[in-house]
Amino acid sequence: MDKKMQTVLPKKKKNTLKLKFETTRSYAPALESTSAANIKPQYDLFINGKFEAPLSKKYFPTINPSNEEKLSEVAEANAADVDKAVKAATNAYEKVWKKMAAKERGKYIFRIARIIQEKARELAIIETLDGGKPIRESRDFDIPAAANHFFYYAGWADKLDYAFPNKRTESIGVAGQIIPWNFPLLMAAWKIAPALATGNTVVLKPAETTPLTALKLAEIIQEADLPPGVVNIITGGGATGVALVNHPEIKKIAFTGSTEVGKIILQTTAGTNKKLTLELGGKAANIIFEDAPLDEAVEGVINGIFFNQGQVCCAGSRLYVQESVAHTVIQKLKDRLESLIVGNPLDKNTDIGAINSRQQLQTIQKYLKIGKQEGAELYESPCALPKKGFWCRPTLFTNVAQSNRIAQEEIFGPVLAILTFRTDDEVIEKANNSPYGLSAGVWTDKGSKIFNMSKRLKAGVIWANTFNKFDPTSPFGGFKESGFGREGGLHGLLPYVNLINS
Ligand code: NAP
Ligand code: MG
Repeated sequence: MDKKMQTVLPKKKKNTLKLKFETTRSYAPALESTSAANIKPQYDLFINGKFEAPLSKKYFPTINPSNEEKLSEVAEANAADVDKAVKAATNAYEKVWKKMAAKERGKYIFRIARIIQEKARELAIIETLDGGKPIRESRDFDIPAAANHFFYYAGWADKLDYAFPNKRTESIGVAGQIIPWNFPLLMAAWKIAPALATGNTVVLKPAETTPLTALKLAEIIQEADLPPGVVNIITGGGATGVALVNHPEIKKIAFTGSTEVGKIILQTTAGTNKKLTLELGGKAANIIFEDAPLDEAVEGVINGIFFNQGQVCCAGSRLYVQESVAHTVIQKLKDRLESLIVGNPLDKNTDIGAINSRQQLQTIQKYLKIGKQEGAELYESPCALPKKGFWCRPTLFTNVAQSNRIAQEEIFGPVLAILTFRTDDEVIEKANNSPYGLSAGVWTDKGSKIFNMSKRLKAGVIWANTFNKFDPTSPFGGFKESGFGREGGLHGLLPYVNLINS
């Protein structure tokens, strides 16, 4: 074990406030062994069922953001490589996949789901190494959720005739799919599973900083004996994404990432016949009413913003707390912040891991400065941070104004902006005053208030007395600049089919 990588526990403060949640300073590190993770020194592009050297002849490194060590290097696909992958997908679509009996397609998807389960431990370790998220999260959320997504859509493959009343479905062709770095395997599952179930073939591009679990998925797809070319996985940066979006044989683009890039894709696909879904950024409002069970609410807020280091599109990054309980809630949040364990993502005790990249850390640090300049009050956990790697202390801002940039713009880090309100109407107006509309949370004892809020909040997902809960049967997606189209559930089939009157 690398001594440098031991979990870093919060430093003891001298004359500390009374801690409601007494910080446990006696945790011994409980490191997950990396022996189960088989990472090759180099990965080629996965095209037509085989790993092939890139025509670009270029490779780039992927690192572990918790210690900046190189894990592997992966191929960089240029436009000619993208063309090769799309051609393989078109060929597989025309000759094999669209003709295959739906029941048979379903069997392949079930097989992929089962192999993900079998390899869950290895996938969780690699997700944590490549992306910096705590092993507890990769192990208990990312990987099981990815397997569940394949299981769920495998079930739909031969039931599409029952999905949309009086309609039958027709597949559309090759889908180009582009995903971000915050849930690498899960986002790949969200994209690939519904596309395959509906009879389409796929070219997927993972993010530059987290390509490894997508490449492991390529190995799983080989093991599942999926016909060559049905799924192609090509690594590379933004330019690879651009080539994929612009390829004329692509019939559908599914993009998850920033609003900035989403807008570019919307412009470049305008006037083409490509179907498009965009899952973009967010600035979710988490709302605590005075009648809420406050301890549960505080725990939900902590989960909502610090889950995956706040690098979650639906993170509850704006907290609106009713004025009468604001003081109590803020104190409870500060106390809880001090007990969060920040450090080695491979340690099973760790609550908060590394930030995904130097670039993302710089963005977060820029917003910490902006928040202070705007006059908000910063409170951060006093924990020590490891010397190497990309780290950010969990942070709260109080005295935040609705117009402040830290309340309006997506920070994508463990930073919570806290605002107050007095009435229902006021909080609705404030919560909806955002260019985004991906998710929101409501904490109250009253069912009627939940119904009222969920009707009036402009967000794709509204959680009540909980936060960040996902299920493959539930659709997910945004309003306004958070994008359009839904992934998950029955709704997640729609972007991959043409509906024909039956
Ligand atoms: P990003 O910069 O937009 O990148 C997303 C993906 O697009 C990456 O694979 C990226 O490649 C690629 N890309 C970059 N420029 C492109 C271009 N011009 N054309 C085509 N593809 C291009 O976003 P990110 O920083 O990786 O991810 C964070 C963002 O994703 C946040 O805003 C977050 O809210 C959003 N997100 C949304 C959801 C949702 O479901 N709504 C889920 C997760 C994340 P490289 O990685 O190589 O640059
Ligand atoms: Mg990496």
